[in-house]
Amino acid sequence: MIYLYFSIFISLLPFLFLFTQSQILGGYFFAFGNIAGLIAATLFLWQFALGIRFITKIWTNDLIKVNNFHKLIGKYGVLIIFFHPIIEMFSLGKNISFLFFGTLISEYEKHIAMGRVAFYLFLIIFVSSIVLRKKLKYRPWKNIHYLSYPMMFLVFIHAKEIGTFIQSFSLVYFYWNFLLFIFVILVIFRVFNYLNFFKIKLRLLEKKEITKEINIFVFEFLNKKINILPGQFLYLKYKFFGESHPYTVLKIEKNKIFFGIKKVGKSSKNFSKIKIGDVVFADGAYGVFTKEGQNSENKILIAGGIGITPFYELVKKYSKNTILFYSCKHKNDFVYDEFFEENLKNSYIKLVTNENVKGKNIETKRFSKDVLQKYVLKDVLSKSKFFICGPDEFINNAVQILVDLKISKDKIFIEKFGL
Ligand SMILES: Cc1cc2nc3c(=O)[nH]c(=O)nc-3n(C[C@H](O)[C@H](O)[C@H](O)COP(=O)(O)OP(=O)(O)OC[C@H]3O[C@@H](n4cnc5c(N)ncnc54)[C@H](O)[C@@H]3O)c2cc1C
Repeated sequence: MIYLYFSIFISLLPFLFLFTQSQILGGYFFAFGNIAGLIAATLFLWQFALGIRFITKIWTNDLIKVNNFHKLIGKYGVLIIFFHPIIEMFSLGKNISFLFFGTLISEYEKHIAMGRVAFYLFLIIFVSSIVLRKKLKYRPWKNIHYLSYPMMFLVFIHAKEIGTFIQSFSLVYFYWNFLLFIFVILVIFRVFNYLNFFKIKLRLLEKKEITKEINIFVFEFLNKKINILPGQFLYLKYKFFGESHPYTVLKIEKNKIFFGIKKVGKSSKNFSKIKIGDVVFADGAYGVFTKEGQNSENKILIAGGIGITPFYELVKKYSKNTILFYSCKHKNDFVYDEFFEENLKNSYIKLVTNENVKGKNIETKRFSKDVLQKYVLKDVLSKSKFFICGPDEFINNAVQILVDLKISKDKIFIEKFGL
């Protein structure tokens, strides 16, 4: 990530230099209004690039961290944009209505109007992502996010035609055109990616229903095979023009790749309908979950339901000093039960929450402090790292238990199955 932060800083440098030329606009205050617009636009471009996962892969596989950084720039970084129209309003001697209304009587006014429309679009994206995100469903939120395409385009044209600094310095003009070129390239890449040009093609070999909600899919690699670490995920697209959704690679075997997919909403339900021989499109691998556990040190894995998927390959490769707590509603819901029994023996504890069952290493309750302390010795508890995956509520509950037991937060690693 450090390279990413550095790249962002470098990209802003040409505009920071403009402060030394503030006399052109009558001082630092008015220059800041102009430079704020240019900096915000560059951050918008980064925002745009960081939303494209095959671009962010250049810097890191940690898509979740990139996503959090993308949100952070969106929340605070681009707020600098507010200075631009407000300071422009003062410098042109206008009143507050200038921010929202204008005329189209001249070329100049038309280009101001482009900036105004871009500002409206920014406000819509900002409010939907920062203020209303929790209230909005995933798809409306995502569709609103697509407004960033026209917004970026308007921002570039607006500043190119009437930006004082861009008009005054040929190097800044050149740099602005370069950023516009990058934007166009990113859009083209995105279109090509949507049309599955660079995707991994996987053909369905087997489909097995484990429970009413969970299926195991076995695919073969068709065009290329990639290197996948335990816990990593791919984005899968069940048809040519479908949506891409993230799914953790459950298991890898020679040319075969396995996924465990739970039917949740529209896309996963459609996914469950694919037939033997169908081809799906994938990109990745992304993610760094369990990286700190890919060794023989003590680790405790806590999985709820389909949250078991990141742990199969980990246990296959690093079963030494590993304890697994696996919680499911019913006794028949456990995926690869025999495999875990065989590899972990007494270090495999099953929690069955909605059915009364008896047996060795089986508890008929939720994951709790008591269960943890019953199966893990105190000294093992203190030297272990913890990896938790499952529904949000399950993760929050498990983290709280560990925090109550004074486990330091830097030993707790989680993977949430949602954005
Ligand atoms: C890193 C990661 C690994 C995952 N691994 C698995 C797995 O191995 N097996 C499994 O069954 N599920 C996994 N999921 C969850 C799976 O991606 C979602 O269940 C699926 O995207 C839901 O889409 P839907 O249309 O079926 O349901 P919807 O009802 O549309 O979505 C339900 C919820 O899923 C989340 N979601 C939807 N689309 C996306 C998306 N494109 N990106 C991220 N989150 C989204 C949102 O929080 C949404 O509210 C994983 C998710 C992530 C982020």
